[in-house]
Amino acid sequence: MPLHPLPPLFHRLDREHFDGQLAGLQRPELRIRWSDGRMTRTAGLYRRGPGLSEIVLSRPLLVPLPLEATLSTLCHEMIHAWVDRVLRVREAHGPNFRAHMQRINSAQQQFEVSLRHRYPLPAVVAGWIAVCPSCGRTASYRRRRQGLACRPCCEAHNGGRWDQRFALSFERAPEASSG
Ligand SMILES: [Zn+2]
Ligand SMILES: [Zn+2]
Repeated sequence: MPLHPLPPLFHRLDREHFDGQLAGLQRPELRIRWSDGRMTRTAGLYRRGPGLSEIVLSRPLLVPLPLEATLSTLCHEMIHAWVDRVLRVREAHGPNFRAHMQRINSAQQQFEVSLRHRYPLPAVVAGWIAVCPSCGRTASYRRRRQGLACRPCCEAHNGGRWDQRFALSFERAPEASSG
């Protein structure tokens, strides 16, 4: 799946819900970017540094989901940035954060900002597909296994005992797209 470019989404949300105040503040620079493929513990984060503050959105968690998940996560992090940079208040999900979140949620229907980013991790990418040579059933495995046979076939044709005729053959799973 292609990565949705974040700056247009950021500027739209900034205009619609922050009076353009986030883009107006140049210092320190606020950078918005996608994470690499390893950020799986949270859907997004805002962090301030001395010369650079940034919003990072999780590529592995958000890219497989509909755009609302990206909007909602980006907006959540933008509220953190707004509380920090515009209000200059030190709070996490405090009263300023919550009040602005509620204003945004009641102002539009396209997405909902929540306090926590609850998104399921995408299923672990299987490296291997096991195929039963008899019935053609397939199953995904993270690694290749020796000596497995198709249970339904063994049960149906061999009293539940292992049978070479139903030994699973392993094939490489199609390459998972990065992102
Ligand atoms: Zn937060
Ligand atoms: Zn089978």
